[in-house]
Order: sequence, then structure tokens, then C-alpha cells
Amino acid sequence: MRVRRPFLGAPVLFVIAGIAITLATTGVMALSLYQMRRDAMSQARDAAENLADSLEKETERNLDVFQLAMREVAISIQTPELQRLPADVRQLVAFGTTRGARQLGAMFATDAAGNFILDSRSPVPRRLNVGDRDYFQVQQRDKGAGLYLSRPFLSRGDDAGQPTIALSLRLDGQDGQFAGIVAGSLRLKYFHEMFKDAILGRHGTITLLRTDGSVLMRQPYHPGDVGSTLAGGHSFPPLVRSDQGSYVDIAVLDHVRRLYSFKRIGRYPLVVVVGLSTGDIYAGWHRRAIAIGAVTIVIDVLSIGLSLMFAGLLRRRLEMERQLRELAWFDSLTGLPNRTQLQREARRALAHAKQDASSFATLFIDLDRFKRVNDTQGHAVGDEVLREIAGRLREQLHAGDSVSRLGGDEFLAILQDCDVLKAMHVAGRILQAIRQPVALDSEQDTSITISASIGIAMYPSDGENTDVLLRNADMAMYQAKRSGRNRIHFYAPEYERKAREHLDLEIALQHDLKARTLSVAYQPKVDATGRLHGAEALVRWRNDRMDSIPPDYFIPIAEESGLIVELDAWVLGEACRQLAAWRAGGLAVPNIAVNVCAMDLKRPDYPGFVARTLADHGLAPADLILEMTERVMFDEAADDIRTSIDEIHALGVMLAIDDFGTGYSSLNYLHRFPVGELKIDKSFVQGIGDNARSESLAQTIINIGKTLKLTVVAEGIETPAQREFLRRHDCDLYQGYLFSPPLSPDDFARWVAAQRQSVPARPSP
Ligand code: C2E
Ligand code: MG
Ligand code: MG
Repeated sequence: MRVRRPFLGAPVLFVIAGIAITLATTGVMALSLYQMRRDAMSQARDAAENLADSLEKETERNLDVFQLAMREVAISIQTPELQRLPADVRQLVAFGTTRGARQLGAMFATDAAGNFILDSRSPVPRRLNVGDRDYFQVQQRDKGAGLYLSRPFLSRGDDAGQPTIALSLRLDGQDGQFAGIVAGSLRLKYFHEMFKDAILGRHGTITLLRTDGSVLMRQPYHPGDVGSTLAGGHSFPPLVRSDQGSYVDIAVLDHVRRLYSFKRIGRYPLVVVVGLSTGDIYAGWHRRAIAIGAVTIVIDVLSIGLSLMFAGLLRRRLEMERQLRELAWFDSLTGLPNRTQLQREARRALAHAKQDASSFATLFIDLDRFKRVNDTQGHAVGDEVLREIAGRLREQLHAGDSVSRLGGDEFLAILQDCDVLKAMHVAGRILQAIRQPVALDSEQDTSITISASIGIAMYPSDGENTDVLLRNADMAMYQAKRSGRNRIHFYAPEYERKAREHLDLEIALQHDLKARTLSVAYQPKVDATGRLHGAEALVRWRNDRMDSIPPDYFIPIAEESGLIVELDAWVLGEACRQLAAWRAGGLAVPNIAVNVCAMDLKRPDYPGFVARTLADHGLAPADLILEMTERVMFDEAADDIRTSIDEIHALGVMLAIDDFGTGYSSLNYLHRFPVGELKIDKSFVQGIGDNARSESLAQTIINIGKTLKLTVVAEGIETPAQREFLRRHDCDLYQGYLFSPPLSPDDFARWVAAQRQSVPARPSP
């Protein structure tokens, strides 16, 4: 059995899509945040560099102006004419052109001892000595020192105590000896003024350094910063090595992480460093990152949530579809494929067989007497049995074969690549498997044993398409039932013809039964002396279109269609009427035997009907014998039949077992049922004389009858030898063509009259 799995990957796809969307949005967001962060940094770098650049330019320009002014002072001081001028004039001349530069700071010249000889702040030089200052000593020591920039120091002049730096130039005498310096002192406050408007954020810094690492000025201003050194910091080397650049570092002074952009101021040993704290740089980015992150999380949660929701919905939907498909394709009781699914399986088998030019078998399996299980054990047990049988059927099949339930107790198996022999084999196994007892109640240890009938149609010999095969397998199954159940029948073409014939016959019989065109023949039963002991009523059907149709042929058809009930009722009434009529005409017929079948006895009102019919014709119960075959007692509804039999017996009507020896021949039921007569089947009687087995069987039956004190009747006696054999073995009564065939009522009356003359009259009771 092949079950196609529904595609369950789809809900997973939803989840994967959800995750993919999440990853994509998160990735894009992260990437753009990263990009924004880099942009923030590079913008900050640009800003810092620009600022460093402009500060550098401005500082350089001012220093250049200052330096040039100092050089002019140096030139004028060395001019001999100037030496001779009075001090105030000399001061005017020397600083005349340096007005602009003097705004930056004081300018002065000293002699070789460091005493002021010219002072921009006073026409008469102030009495100051700078011999202890580094900017003096460097020039005094080193002839080639050039322009020297001092370390910061605290001013001693007008604005005493102010942090100041100084630039100095050496003055040489005529002899080349050191003659003093020209110097300019710059208050560092000036740079503060210059830098203070720069926009730097909350933690930004601007630092002016000497290239030896000592801090000249730092914005914002902290008194302790001036004079401290950065030379130990690990970011100091790049500051010294190159003229400009940027780096990120944690500040030595305040431990804040910053982006620094530095620029060397012209040729001066000075560097301006602009620092922007990374906190400030990323502040805007940070805010946006939080917002974007939040949005991303919301989007992600939504997309994952939605995808899970859709996946859940889809899964539920697929599951429902699967269940619907199962409902549509599978039988809910047994879980086997149902009729709909069977069509697909059959088409598949057909296509496969056509392609491979192979054959396959169609097995129609019908449980025997299943209705009885349902009726006696209840439907729950019936269902349980069906489930169990379904499981066993499945076990007997190979991969590629399929079994389905057609409904009720019918199953159909399709055996792929299967020839007649194999089909027979598998069907045999199935029968065997079904016959194993089905446990009903493990505690009470009760079980039920059931059998099945199987009909087999082969592709392609028994049909070219699935409908025909199914019908033919069904027909074959039906044959199996008819030939005694619990067996296998192969479909053969004559079955189909027979089935059609049956249907035609059924219709005709129904018609003729209504039209009362049937008749009853009577066959005498005699004793060993030839004296009449009774008559058996046998129905006769002669149809205009057909010749006489033997009861052996149409009675089973009447049984199948249910017409038998009506037919037998009519025969019983007719036989009783005839007996009463004969007696009324002076013909002494001791009793009349009528054949009944299981379906008659199953009618709950049958005993009442028998009683009424006897009464209607003024007959006594002893006037009637009902003949039934052994099979009747093994019918599915044995309990109903049993009740009828008991009631009939209670009426006083005798029961006979007809065709004894052909059915189940169990001595058991002879004890259990109130039987008064046994009729040896004619097949044994006819075997007498040339078949030892028949003879011994006939003999055995007579013995059984004697033992059980039953009347034994032999039917179908055709020869005197048969009669002699039976007589020798003490058979009670005789029936057969040797005495008389079944006769019309008139012929029967004549036969009785003729008989009376040749045989001595029966002693009256
Ligand atoms: P059965 O009850 O065993 O009836 C005896 C059959 O043996 C009759 O066949 C009878 O004609 C036939 N027979 C009698 N003597 C001889 C003989 O010497 N040689 C041969 N070859 N046959 C002989 P029939 O009338 O064809 O009936 C066949 C069966 O149909 C009966 O077997 C009985 O089972 C059934 N049947 C007949 N009438 C009725 C009826 O009204 N109701 C029911 N339910 N069944 C009936
Ligand atoms: Mg009979
Ligand atoms: Mg018989």
C-alpha cells in the first residue's frame, strides 16, 4: 500500500523565510549602523583636521609676524647709528615697525649678561635680567641655535605670574662674540583667546605642545596642565615623527578616549592637537543606533512571529487536508484504503501491467457469515473483527500489492506481477490467516473463528479494465460462496453467463410465482412391502418460453433473491390443500412431506404460519413432515432457526433431515435437534452396486438412524438391486423412480389406486 505523504516542507519554508527576512533586515541595519559609525568618525576626523589646520595657520602666521618683528629689532640694534641715539629715541626706532607684532606680547633685547637694553614696554628699559631663563642660556651657549622657543614659565614683568613662552634670537658682536638676545614673550592666554571659539563638543580639547612633549596650553584650561608632559604617552611618537595626522587614544591627562588630529605649526617646534571625545563623536550615532536597533528588533520579532504564525496556520491546514484526504481515501474503521483509493491503486496496477506486459490478480475477499457475528456479538465486536482481519490481510501481502476495504465485510486485494499459481498461493494464505481465531476478550479467553470466500479475476485474461476485473472477481467470490464458503474460486467466462441467466430466471420466477403458474408434484414414499407411507411435495416450474426447469437449478436462485419464502409458503399451502382434497376423495395418504429452507425457518412467524395452514385445511400436525437439509442447521442465524424448529416440534410436526451425508454430517446436531427422520441422499443410494464407499455410507446412515431411533428413508432408488441392498440393511422407507417418479395430483391418485390392487392394504392403526 502506497500512501503519498503530503508536502510538509512548506511550513518550514515559511519559518526559513521568516528567519531569512530577519537576518536580512538585521544585517542591513547592522551594516548601515556600522557605515554610519564610520561616517561619524570620518566626519569628526575631517572637522578635527580642519580645525587643527586653521589653528595651525593662524598660529604660524602670528608667530611669523612676531619673529619678523624680532628680526627687525635685532637688525636695528646692531646698526651702529642706533647705538648713539638717546634711549627713548632708540626705543621708538627699534620698535617703530613692530606695532602689530607687539600686540602679541612684549619684545625686548638684552646684553650679554641678560640685562634689558631695549624694551617694547618702556622707553627706558626696565631693570630686568633674564640671564636665568632657558631662552637666554640656549642662545648664550649655542651660536647656531637660531630661533628658539622656550619652555613655558611664569612672567616676571607687568603681568607677573602669567604662563608665558618666549622666542629668542642671538645677537653677536663685531668680533662674533655673544652680545645678548632679542626675545619676545607671548602670554599663553593669547592662544586661549584664539582657540576659545572653536566648537569642540563637551569633551573636546585643543592642546598646544612643544615637540618635546611639554604642554603649553590646553583648552579647556586647567592650571596644572601647563608644563606637564605628554612625552610618556604611547601616542606621542607619531606626533613627533610626522607633521600631521590623526589617531584615537585615551588621554594621558584626563583618561578620556578621543580622536586626535595634530598639525605641526610651520617650522616651529610646536604642535597643535585637536581632540574630540569619541563619546561626543558617536553621541548622535548612538541615539540613532538605539532607535534603529529598536525598529529592527520590532521588525524581526514581527517577521519571525508572522512566519511562525503562518507556518502554524499552514501546518494546521495541511494537516486538515491530509485528514480530509485520509477520510476520502481511507476507510476509517480499518485504516485500509477505501473504494476511492482502490480505483487509484487499480489504475496504477493496470498501467504497470500494461507497461511490463505482466499480469496481476484481483482478489475479492468476503467474510463468511459475518452478519452472524454482528447479530450475535454486537457491532463493537464486529468492528474489532474487521480491524483484526484487515491487519492480517495486510500482513499477507508483499510490497507493491494493495488491499482495500470495499465496505461491509468485503475486501479487495490487488497482487502485482502475479500469475494464477501465485494468486492461488496468496489467496490460500489469506484464507488460512483469516481462519485463525480472533480473540474477543482476553480475560474470558473467548474467541471467534471466521472464514472467507475469495474470488479471483486475472488481468488480462479475465478483464481488460478495472471495472470488469472487479465485477468478475466478485462473481468468482460468489461462486466460492455457493460451493460451500471458505474457499477460493477463479473467475471463468461461464460464470458471467450464468449470472446473467440467473437474473433472467429470477425475473421469470417472480412473474410465474405471482401468476400461480407453478405446480407441485408428489412422489410416493413406500415401505419394504411397497405400501404407501407418505408423499413428498416437489415444486415444478414449467415456463412457456422454457422447458421444465429443475428445482436444483432454480431453488438456489429463489433462495438468493428471497423469493423462496413466498414459493415455499405457496407449496406448503398447496400440498396441504391437496392432501385434504385426496382424503376428502377417499384416498388414504398418510402424510405429506414439504421441503423448507433456512430462510423459511428464520421467519419468526413461520411456526404460526405452519399451524394456521394445517388448521385451514383441517389437518393434524402429524400429517406434515418438514424436510430441511443439514446446512440449515449451520446457518448464520442458527438461534432463530433453532427457536422455529423447537416451536414446530412442539406443534407435533415431524422434522426430517434431507440429503443426509452431503453436508456437515455431524452427529452432534442430530442429538440437539428434535429430528424424527433421516433421508439418505440419493447420491449414496445410486452408488449402491458399484461403489463400496457409497454402500458403506448408506449402511452407516441406516445404523445411525437405528441407534437414534429415527425413521430412515432412502431416496433416489432406481433399481431393484438398490432396494434389495437397503432392505437387507433394514432401511425403513423407500422413495425413487423404481416406485414412482414425482407425479401430478391426478397421476398420484391413479398410482395409489393401482397400488392398492397389487399391494395388501395398510393395516388400519
Ligand atoms: P429433495 O428434497 O432431495 O428431493 C428429491 C429429489 O430427488 C427430487 O428432485 C426428485 O425428483 C428426485 N428424485 C426422486 N427419485 C429419484 C430417482 O430415482 N432418481 C433421481 N435421479 N432423482 C430422483 P427435484 O424435484 O428435482 O428437487 C430437487 C430438490 O429441490 C429437492 O431435493 C429439494 O431440495 C428442492 N425442492 C424441490 N421442491 C422444493 C420446494 O417446494 N421447496 C424447497 N425449499 N425446495 C424444494
Ligand atoms: Mg426433500
Ligand atoms: Mg433429497
